[in-house]
Amino acid sequence: MRDRIDLVQGDITELAVDAIVNAANNSLLGGGGVDGAIHGAAGLDLLEECRTLGGCTTGEAKITAGYNLPAKHVIHTVGPVWFGGDNDEDALLASCYRNSMALAAEHRLRTIAFPAISTGVYGFPKERATRIAVREVVVALERHERIERVTFVAFSERDHGVYEGVIATQIN
Ligand code: ADP
Repeated sequence: MRDRIDLVQGDITELAVDAIVNAANNSLLGGGGVDGAIHGAAGLDLLEECRTLGGCTTGEAKITAGYNLPAKHVIHTVGPVWFGGDNDEDALLASCYRNSMALAAEHRLRTIAFPAISTGVYGFPKERATRIAVREVVVALERHERIERVTFVAFSERDHGVYEGVIATQIN
């Protein structure tokens, strides 16, 4: 399992994978953070395709082309806003990872990169989010054998350390 999981630090928009996952908002019409970076790098054609999708419910995922990105596709998922933990945040975040992986498998994609969904403006505690992310990706990789590799993208050095710790304890 460990050889199917990668951890890098940097900008997810630079990765030449089958799909990068976008931490989008319900409108799918762009925003700040990683969403802004992805739309900025993909170009206006991405926004045009997103307009046809009719938004996205929290925890669900939708796929588009990657346009000017080195990635072939973008999987847009909407993470929960953190309201203290008693509002289904854990389950909704898990759904983001599960549904993104299922969509990737459905489209026969083999390499997928995830940012730390919900841990920016949406305020989800980092370590808690990372534990959910790693757990769900491991389960999905077991289920979807044709997905070769998942890359976790940490934006900061500190986040990279959080992923390292969680991966070391959760994966053999
Ligand atoms: P959310 O609204 O889901 O919290 P954000 O975009 O605010 O989404 O943050 C999600 C995570 O993405 C944060 O950990 C943030 O540091 C990270 N991030 C921001 N820009 C990039 C980028 N270009 N590549 C990878 N990760 C990024």
